[in-house]
Amino acid sequence: MRRITVAKGDGIGPEIMEAVLQILEAAKANIEIDLVEIGEKMYKAGHTSGISKEAWNTIRKNKVFLKAPITTPQGGGYKSLNVTLRKTLGLYSNVRPCKSFYPFVNTKHPEMDVVIVRENEEDLYAGIEHQQTQEVVQCLKLISRPGCEKIIRYAFEYARHNNRKKVSCFVKDNIMKQTDGLFHQIFKEVSAEYPEIKTDSWIIDIGAARLADTPEIFDVVVTSNLYGDVLSDIAAQISGSVGLAGSANIGEQCAMFEAIHGSAPPIAGKNIANPSGLLRAAVMMLNHIGQQETAEKIKNAWSCVIEEGIHTEDIYKEGISKQLVSTKEFTTAVIDRLGNTPKQIQPANFTKGKVMQVPIYKRKPASAKVLKGVDVFVDWEGKDANKLAHALQKLNNGIELTMITNRGVKVWPNGFEETFCTDHWRCRFEDLNGNQVPQSAIPHIMSKAIEEEIDIIKSENLYEFDGNKGYSMGQGQ
Ligand code: NAD
Repeated sequence: MRRITVAKGDGIGPEIMEAVLQILEAAKANIEIDLVEIGEKMYKAGHTSGISKEAWNTIRKNKVFLKAPITTPQGGGYKSLNVTLRKTLGLYSNVRPCKSFYPFVNTKHPEMDVVIVRENEEDLYAGIEHQQTQEVVQCLKLISRPGCEKIIRYAFEYARHNNRKKVSCFVKDNIMKQTDGLFHQIFKEVSAEYPEIKTDSWIIDIGAARLADTPEIFDVVVTSNLYGDVLSDIAAQISGSVGLAGSANIGEQCAMFEAIHGSAPPIAGKNIANPSGLLRAAVMMLNHIGQQETAEKIKNAWSCVIEEGIHTEDIYKEGISKQLVSTKEFTTAVIDRLGNTPKQIQPANFTKGKVMQVPIYKRKPASAKVLKGVDVFVDWEGKDANKLAHALQKLNNGIELTMITNRGVKVWPNGFEETFCTDHWRCRFEDLNGNQVPQSAIPHIMSKAIEEEIDIIKSENLYEFDGNKGYSMGQGQ
């Protein structure tokens, strides 16, 4: 008997969770349930993160969590509980299979069978944002070597375990050479360890366009957090309906299973929501806890219902569907077919007895890190970069002003008058001969700036790692 934690969530959450629990019980899943309250009620009771200490304890004790969607209240300093849960529990991998069930569910992509493996903990979802000047705010995009390596290795292990043939990497490293560049580089390194699996790499814009247009050319897609968030909703929607897809959030110790859709407040309580996304998440959960036979039984019963054309409103289509049903009727239809095998949709055949093991990340040996200069960011309302450069050159003290950019584009030396400038200037100081710079040069620049009444809002040190520049050039440099 495996104890799991269950949260019924908000909006349509309680009714679709009720449906899923009834099916799990009827299929005799070998589980025992601890219910926790999270989401709207807890936010309103004063827990700004939407979860109580007791709920955390239960989730951490049981390690496996089946969660219905919750509503994140707008504004008011509320943090998304979904993001908090994923990050606090170290659920680094978000796996979202998106398969079409044509001709039973309408889709333009009958052959589609894509699994999106999305990094779940970092990228812009670190949520570190600052307003720095009147005109400019920033959000830090944090990409780490462990973060990339863990998710990419997970994608290859998933492909190997599930007999998938290809892993595709989606990045934007033609622009973000450090962050997306690191992801792509690690993809190349890790892929070498899986020679039997084909690989390709896509710039996210054209890759997303091809995924929306010809998804059948993709198998497993691995990508960073924000791209994966967008791509997986698109992939789920074009496979038939966002209401159909489930997802697994996997960490080294805990795992959480949920539908990919939200709490759909407008249809809550109407008994019309499709419970399939959460049910398919529950099937992933049963696989995760080693109950593959029950997982197969439920998946097959669900496939029978879908191929018989018994459909909830979101996927019902005249000419394709046979019977429009409520959430409760859909649930009964699945329960009635437990033990049946689908005739046209391929029956489930989950790998039994072999649990997917992902090697634990091992920290790499440190590389030689050499300070080569500093970028200081200045809040300045003027427009003529030559004037700013003139003021900043008073801060030179062995390391010298070499470049000024505005929103990344070089405006000094030799800027163009057509370039639009905000009040946010990146000013680079380096040793003119390319030598190592003493750490003491940086506070010297800062204190001199105070004397000269130059408003420095932040600085970034410029390092080389094993002789490779760890910072971007200015656009146009
Ligand atoms: P949503 O996914 O709730 O709804 C999008 C559309 O899909 C709506 O038209 C909805 O009616 C429909 N839909 C969704 N699930 C369905 C189902 N099972 N059956 C039939 N139709 C379904 O997205 P949203 O409207 O952007 O978000 C609503 C709330 O959900 C927000 O508070 C958001 O923060 C939250 N949310 C929660 C999660 C989660 O808990 N994992 C995920 C996404 C959004």
